[in-house]
Amino acid sequence: MAEPAPATSEELLAIRQSSVPRGLKSAFDFVAARASGSQVWDQAGVGYIDFVGGIGVLNVGHGHPRVLAAAHRQTDLLIHTSAQIATYEPYLRLAQRLCELAPGDFAKKAIFFSTGAEAVENTVKIARSFTGKPGIVAFSQAFHGRTLMGMSLTDTVKPYKLGFGPFAPEIYRSPFPYEFWGWDSARALEELEESLRSKWPADRMAAILIEPVLGEGGFVPASIEFLGGLRELADRRGLLLIADEVQSGIGRTGKLFAIEHSEVAPDLIAVAKSLGGGFPLSGVVGRAEVMDAPSPGQLGSTYGGNPVACAAALAVLDVIDEEGLLARAAVIGSILEERMQEWQRRYRLVGDVRVLGAMAGLELVRDRASREPAAAETKEIIDGCRDRGLMALGAGPHHNVIRTLMPLNIADDLLLQGLDILEGELARVSEAKG
Ligand code: PMP
Repeated sequence: MAEPAPATSEELLAIRQSSVPRGLKSAFDFVAARASGSQVWDQAGVGYIDFVGGIGVLNVGHGHPRVLAAAHRQTDLLIHTSAQIATYEPYLRLAQRLCELAPGDFAKKAIFFSTGAEAVENTVKIARSFTGKPGIVAFSQAFHGRTLMGMSLTDTVKPYKLGFGPFAPEIYRSPFPYEFWGWDSARALEELEESLRSKWPADRMAAILIEPVLGEGGFVPASIEFLGGLRELADRRGLLLIADEVQSGIGRTGKLFAIEHSEVAPDLIAVAKSLGGGFPLSGVVGRAEVMDAPSPGQLGSTYGGNPVACAAALAVLDVIDEEGLLARAAVIGSILEERMQEWQRRYRLVGDVRVLGAMAGLELVRDRASREPAAAETKEIIDGCRDRGLMALGAGPHHNVIRTLMPLNIADDLLLQGLDILEGELARVSEAKG
């Protein structure tokens, strides 16, 4: 019998329209059919260079043979028991490995979940359990997920929180050191110190939670001084320090964890995205005595640390090692920095360039003095890139940042081709705006 003809994009998009709620927005209006390395092909066979990497999930690329082989092997052995029922080797090997790799010269433990939001939620549970206090400091422009606690910790209301409240209490907001918006590290640190000293209930504060590089908030690295200041402040006031490395971790910035650019060792780290190489996997790794605060039975989830995802993650870590992807991220970073700084000199739309390894943000403004966000122009550039075969992604509460999340093993020719497309669109939209 002949195989049925594959559905067309139009047919599939009609199903999307009738059967999937509009609240789930897709950045691109094509149907992804297959992918390999740093490229994605749609249902009609049109190819795209991928600077999005499934929102930072594919640091080792689509369908890496090592990751696929590990996943296939594990699929044949054992797909699921639930770690709450019986443990299994890939979970334990991965826990041990993350404990060795995470910064900090102290004993650590690790636990696994499925999504980034779940990992962040669990850092809060663990921190509250350890300290016996509820208060969590989170930063402006922060994004920590779409669950109730994730949304509560997230700063940006539209679209993430609008109409979804009330939110979880005991979250205290402090300015992120976003220099382009006038918050230098010293001022942001002073503001936090002052809030802790006089505005917030000091005896109720459990932890400070920070993305070492703001992700959805616009790809803004916190300076080394700021992170060092946080550690000192947390120690002085008896708070824990939690790093949300969901987007910045697993090699993106040229270190396994972005916070390693500083000397700071957080008490807890949330990881997800690229850890599982495309399989749903997240985790919390941290100081052993903190991780052991919740009693037996207080942590877990049915799917957390799925065996296939853990086997894939072990392969991801091998690939990062064997292909030298930390060094490669730094090389990509210097290519991005050179190109983007040249764009800043050439195109008035480019207000700010922020690069930490392969995690680069290009902030576009209508006018450099007023810094009015160029949201429409950013969308036009991203749409233009798509028409020319590049998947690029925006960020920032004002939707005026273009961020880079290409696989770290992207070949030079694809990287340069992608950057040429991006520059072409930047030039076109800049000229159109005069
Ligand atoms: N924290 C950060 C820093 C993130 O970037 C994200 C996802 N963009 C999350 C948490 C939430 O992860 P997930 O979507 O897997 O729940």
